Amino acid sequence: MDSWLIFSTSSNKTMENHVVFIALGSNIGDRARALNEASELMPPDIIPVSFSKVYETPPWGYEDQPPFLNQVIKARTHLSPPALLKRLKEIEQKLGRKPIFRYGPRLIDLDILFFDDLEYKSEKLTIPHPEIDNRAFVLVPLMEIAPNYIHPVCHKKIVDLAAHVEVDSIIEFRGDNEQ
Ligand code: AMP
Repeated sequence: MDSWLIFSTSSNKTMENHVVFIALGSNIGDRARALNEASELMPPDIIPVSFSKVYETPPWGYEDQPPFLNQVIKARTHLSPPALLKRLKEIEQKLGRKPIFRYGPRLIDLDILFFDDLEYKSEKLTIPHPEIDNRAFVLVPLMEIAPNYIHPVCHKKIVDLAAHVEVDSIIEFRGDNEQ
């Protein structure tokens, strides 16, 4: 037991012991660049392990705005949920995100979708993200990297949740010359 602990600590296994899924979105300026920069700005205590493709998706919640690019990243971290949110907010600030109305256009948006199979609720943070089930722009990239992940609240696999949303408008983004 002791030797396992020593091995575990020295190989850093206890340091990145949570699996998290983070949603990235952007619909202002060079959207692809904003997603790339957000990934590159992840601090050493958030370690991405897989990336979905980037998808172009229609705006949701408030339709009179440009289309989004969306992506989902699976990562490992030792941070607590509030500390993780704080780091993500710092990345949004570094990329120059300005406050805007709910569902409005944004340079970069970083949301925590899942944190292990935790259910967490505070004034500032709800995990799993409450809108996952009806957002095709999240379910399509999630399905690509974690189809069999089970939503800890509704106990359904991502692939089954995705079967109930309209996915035709979620198109793989192959790049363009954005400014
Ligand atoms: P947003 O406009 O998507 O950046 O979200 C605005 C606020 O939603 C954030 O500042 C958080 O306090 C709150 N929030 C609640 N749950 C979550 C979550 N799972 N991931 C990210 N933000 C969240």
